[in-house]
Amino acid sequence: MRIIDGHCDLLWRLWTKKYVEKGTLDRPFYKNADWLMVTKEKLKEGGVGLQACAIYISEEVARTRAFLTALEMVDLFYTEVVSDEVMVIRGRKDLEEWEKSNRLGLILTMEGVEGTEGDFLKLHTLYHLGVRWVGLTHNPANLVADGVGEARGAGLSQLGREFVQELNRLQVAIDVSHLSERGFWDVLEISSQPVFASHSNAKSILPHRRNLSDVQISALVSAGGLIGLTYAPHFTAATEKVTIDDLLRHVEHYCSLGAEKHIGLGSDFDGISKTIEGLEHSGKTAALVEKLLRHYDEKLVEGFLYRNYLEYLKKIWIDDHRYFRCEKS
Ligand SMILES: [Zn+2]
Repeated sequence: MRIIDGHCDLLWRLWTKKYVEKGTLDRPFYKNADWLMVTKEKLKEGGVGLQACAIYISEEVARTRAFLTALEMVDLFYTEVVSDEVMVIRGRKDLEEWEKSNRLGLILTMEGVEGTEGDFLKLHTLYHLGVRWVGLTHNPANLVADGVGEARGAGLSQLGREFVQELNRLQVAIDVSHLSERGFWDVLEISSQPVFASHSNAKSILPHRRNLSDVQISALVSAGGLIGLTYAPHFTAATEKVTIDDLLRHVEHYCSLGAEKHIGLGSDFDGISKTIEGLEHSGKTAALVEKLLRHYDEKLVEGFLYRNYLEYLKKIWIDDHRYFRCEKS
């Protein structure tokens, strides 16, 4: 079975190593560096066939340097991660090609629109460079919306509404993980396409601000969206030791809400410092698969691992969009 992992922070980790720690990068993705949770070898070992790689601009980066920082991460994506051995997925045709091939696929994504500096030219530029799904915020508020970490709890700004419309027009998938609850409902109301949460668990199982309530889960399901189960232990269970069984309780809960055809995976590897026991890096993904197969039939598991993601992306990527869509809708 193939596996799609909808969220990791490999690019942020590479960027931190190069630009903050001033370390040298010696092809760590290809040399299976032990400081990376996501490497070519680990992905292969874990059976992950398609990895989303997020551009994430942390709060420490000056807002006036945000676009430049995004470009630094794009550069790391193309110099350190992309090679002839992998394929970059930029649209529907690429995705269909990937389905038929055995190659490792990569999707460039954004976690928070900080890198656009609220500017459509910069958003378009990042699109040209391959960004094909976009989370509106990280935890803090930004120009387009409040994240879950902003006490004000506001929804989308006027600019945020315009961003949603432009992302819809570009057929870029909108990721609502990290968004404030009010922002979540605003996006659901105005987005003409189903949206998804790339890495969030269920609030009924663990009441964490980053997790989704039952009404949010049901709304994503009825809108035809997707929910990416995340392996971050602090979103999974409140205990010191968190296991794969704890993660399965979230899957069970999603299924009880009728979400079985809307579950995907979003590891958050290289964005987390603590890990679930037995799920320490991409190479361990097979352990989760094995557990899932003990509880669910193969067809359902196939859905969780990749088919639900494919179905979802095909709803967003109507046209092949390797290139920019000039026409305004
Ligand atoms: Zn995140």
